[in-house]
Amino acid sequence: MSPITHIPMSLSLYTQYRQHQLEALLEITRTFASSSDLSTLLRTILGYAADLVHADFGYIALTTPAGSLRITTGYRLPTAVFEELSPYLAQKRPVEDFWSEAELRRQLELVNAVTQTTLEQVVALPLVLEDEEVVGGIFLFRTGTIAFTPGDRMLLRDFADQAAVAVRNARQVEQLRTEKARVEAIIENNPNGIMILDPQFRVEIINRALSQLLGVAEDDVVGQHCAQALRLRNRTGEHLCLSESNPPPPTRVLYGEGDIVRPGHKTITVGVSYSPLFGGDGRLANIIITFVDITRYREAENLKSTFISVISHELKTPVSLIKGYAGTLARTDVVPDPDFVRESAAIIVEEADRLTELIDNLLDASRIQTGALSMDPQPLDVAAVAKKTIERFRTQTDHHQFILDFPDDLPLALADERRLRQVFDNLISNAIKYSPEGGKIIIGARKQEDELTVFVRDEGVGIPEEELDAIFESFYRVDSSLRRSTQGAGLGLFLVRAIIRAMGGDVWVQSQPGQGSAFYFSLPIAS
Ligand code: ADP
Repeated sequence: MSPITHIPMSLSLYTQYRQHQLEALLEITRTFASSSDLSTLLRTILGYAADLVHADFGYIALTTPAGSLRITTGYRLPTAVFEELSPYLAQKRPVEDFWSEAELRRQLELVNAVTQTTLEQVVALPLVLEDEEVVGGIFLFRTGTIAFTPGDRMLLRDFADQAAVAVRNARQVEQLRTEKARVEAIIENNPNGIMILDPQFRVEIINRALSQLLGVAEDDVVGQHCAQALRLRNRTGEHLCLSESNPPPPTRVLYGEGDIVRPGHKTITVGVSYSPLFGGDGRLANIIITFVDITRYREAENLKSTFISVISHELKTPVSLIKGYAGTLARTDVVPDPDFVRESAAIIVEEADRLTELIDNLLDASRIQTGALSMDPQPLDVAAVAKKTIERFRTQTDHHQFILDFPDDLPLALADERRLRQVFDNLISNAIKYSPEGGKIIIGARKQEDELTVFVRDEGVGIPEEELDAIFESFYRVDSSLRRSTQGAGLGLFLVRAIIRAMGGDVWVQSQPGQGSAFYFSLPIAS
């Protein structure tokens, strides 16, 4: 490939060129040292090249990954020429073709056609690296008939070689910058927590997700030892951060699981991977730690095992009672006593009802999870629904006293009757279950601003303060001696809350252990 292609000329000003060239090379070196900005560098190169050959205008085009040329820098380049040449250069072909004499003549014709001038020469300096890689070319247009001597050509070739190296370096720096920015963006915006440690286990980088997870500001932890920055312990209480006495095995990624415990915050369970990163010299350069929040996964696992144990326990009791009584009734070797038959049948019915209720509750719980709990809110007399519910419960207990406390002028609520009955059923059966000594159970309501507050109050065992939130979670039962003697799957209050919320209200509880509990829920007023 010819480094300089031009249309022959007659005169050479060797010394001038040489001086210009030296100045140009010096300036390019300076520019490159002071700025690795590619566009500044290209402008400088082009300015000096144009000066060297006394060009009227010109441009630098760099090779694109697609194998064509793209104008990146212009020297006094008329817009019309830019617009004419851009599509011409964008045509894919072997890049060497661009400086064949025929193509250069074509460029000159195109340029003359748009500028309405008679430029006579185009000088093309291909920017070629030692390994023959073409990074682009400098194209300069000029009038006049001065020819280049072989000496001029050599100097211009030197200039082009230097410029090619400078362009390659600036391109590499730019590429590195882009890569760096990309990696930084990936780290910073990653939804998983990322921490990068130096070989001494000090924090170099902590991303946004991890700062939030740990509740710390980036500036506070950078430079800290990992064990100090990361209060992370595994299930057996062991510190999960690496220490100098426990360096990671050179070629392995370590994985562990642990809890991030922050006072006043929910404990977060994380899966942590430690990946060692080695430098070219084989020494440990960094340790990259990634944190994945697996709290939900853990909760789901726990819920699944609780579900299985609670359900199997709750199913076993009624099934074995039904089987026992039915088995006795089925015996043919004894004539059963009529009272025993009646009692056994009543127990079988009661236990079958309990099974039905459990199955219904489970179905509702799964509907809540899939968001398919049906609701048909209508204007409703809450006092009438409460009254009907306690009529049924009255027959089940003789040591509880039911009191209704509804003002006469209570407005109608907007609620689904069947679901409201379910709420009262759960709250009143709990009030009975958890007041084994008996006592008053007061059910009432008050109008409060634009909603009704309904309450079910008992004088039973009460609930410890630290359990007040948890009792509304599915399968949750307060651990006490009463838990073992009362039946329940821990689904009642979970359903109550979901139903009330679906009707536009909320539920809460006040309680004193040993004194009793008061469950409250709000309902919108039917307007
Ligand atoms: P279950 O009654 O089936 O256990 P619930 O979801 O209805 O499930 O209630 C969850 C837990 O809340 C109960 O196990 C009990 O410990 C506590 N609890 C509910 N209601 C009362 C109440 N009125 N008094 C005392 N504790 C209650």
